[in-house]
Amino acid sequence: MSSTTCIQWTIAPEIAPRPLINCNRCGDVKAYRCSGKFRVNANGKRIDVWLIYRCIDCDNSWNFGIFERCNRRDIEPALLRALESNDPGLARRHAFDIVALRNKVGRVEEFPDVAVPKQAVGETTETATALELWLGFEMPTSLRLDRLLANELGISRSRLQALEERRLLLVDPGGAKALRKPAREGTTLRTDLTGEPDRQVIIAAALG
Ligand SMILES: [Zn+2]
Repeated sequence: MSSTTCIQWTIAPEIAPRPLINCNRCGDVKAYRCSGKFRVNANGKRIDVWLIYRCIDCDNSWNFGIFERCNRRDIEPALLRALESNDPGLARRHAFDIVALRNKVGRVEEFPDVAVPKQAVGETTETATALELWLGFEMPTSLRLDRLLANELGISRSRLQALEERRLLLVDPGGAKALRKPAREGTTLRTDLTGEPDRQVIIAAALG
C-alpha cells in the first residue's frame, strides 16, 4: 500500500529586486538597492511617500514613489504611522512589488534566491512512497518551478522532466510547460516515487 507524505512549503524571496538607474553621480547605469526607509513629505493636506533606494556604488539616492500627491484623508492613520516609522514588513512588501517598480524604472534586476521553510502536514512515515507538496508564497517570485524543486529536493531538472513525462509528477494547476514557469501561489505537486530507489532521500529533502 502506498502512503503519501504531505508538506507545505512557504517560499519567501531573500533579495529585493534592484532597479537599474542612470546614476548621475556615477555617470553610468547602476543597480540601486532598497534602503528600507520611507520618506514622508506632508504639505498641508497633501502627502507624498517614497521608498528610498541607494546606488550600490556611490550611495546616491533615488525615490520610489509609493503615494504621490495623495490626500491625507485617503491614508489610514495606522498606515501613516507604519510609513513614518519605516515598518520593515511594509518596506519589504513595497520593495518586492516588481510590477510597480517596473512601471517606474523599466529595467529591474531580479534575484532567484529564496528561503523555503517546510512543514509536514499530518503524519509522515518512513515508508512513504508518494509526496505531495503545497506551495505557498510570502510574495510572488520569478523563480521557475523546476529550479525551485531541483534546489530544494536535490534532484536534477531533467529528472523532474522525466518524472513529469511519465505522469509520475503531476502539477496542479498544470498546463503547458508548468515546470518551466514561475512557481505560483496555490500550486500543488504530487509525485509517485515508488520506483525511485532514493525516494527516502528525496522525501527527507522535501521535509527540510
Ligand atoms: Zn552611483
